[in-house]
Amino acid sequence: MRLIANLLGRLIFCLGVMTTVVGCVIGSVLGSSVGTTLPGAALICLGAVIYWRTVTKPCTQCLNRIKSSARQCHHCGSAQS
Ligand SMILES: [Zn+2]
Repeated sequence: MRLIANLLGRLIFCLGVMTTVVGCVIGSVLGSSVGTTLPGAALICLGAVIYWRTVTKPCTQCLNRIKSSARQCHHCGSAQS
């Protein structure tokens, strides 16, 4: 599940980059790029958040987000399973 979410996050991020580039081109033709690049920027943010949530996890003690592979929380110092 985590792997699928990780790949989905990367895919949405890349899609957002491509949509933004296309939006910039369309925007330059139309004269304003705000409306055409906004969907791409939103996809970039969504993809980044999904990816970020797959590479981090909440600490079992203080609930701050730490790397998924961390053995010790760098916020409170507690050992992670
Ligand atoms: Zn902690």
